[in-house]
Amino acid sequence: MNAWEKLYLPAVLKGMFITLSHLFKKKATIQYPEQKRSFPKVFRGLQVLNRDEEGRERCTACGLCAVACPAEAITMEAAERQPGEEHLYREEKYAAKYEINMLRCIFCGFCEEACPKDAIYLSETVTPANYSRAGFIYKKEDLLIPDPTKDPEGYQKALGHRAKKINN
Ligand code: SF4
Ligand code: SF4
Repeated sequence: MNAWEKLYLPAVLKGMFITLSHLFKKKATIQYPEQKRSFPKVFRGLQVLNRDEEGRERCTACGLCAVACPAEAITMEAAERQPGEEHLYREEKYAAKYEINMLRCIFCGFCEEACPKDAIYLSETVTPANYSRAGFIYKKEDLLIPDPTKDPEGYQKALGHRAKKINN
């Protein structure tokens, strides 16, 4: 190195020039979670248990989704609909308990494909992070879509483009 190079000034100036030039380039990163990227239409996120247009639960606890699930992530308990509960459950049987272990789920969508009642689909919601394993066990009340007769806005938001396709 000559005396000029030994001052390291050219290297420092070159480094500063590179840093400054990046200020004016298009950023590859975004300010998540304030900013969010839109996902492609094929994106499969958190499962949603669907209701019909009258707000009744569609799931009949037939278990086909659990059988189709390669990760054995779904468990449920069936119950019989009682007289006077017709406004809550669409069919004679319903899921008294329904759980998905999101630590097992691989978002393959087989549960959605297996369901004969359009009762489950994978939404556009990313599974939120959690601090405990128990926090990743999603129960029926976590998965059920808002009742369209009580919260039409929440229902429409939760529907997303995938469920619109399913319901139509
Ligand atoms: S998306 Fe796949 S792995 Fe996840 S619960 Fe459904 S069937 Fe199981
Ligand atoms: S979500 Fe569908 S496949 Fe799974 S138990 Fe309910 S009705 Fe059956």
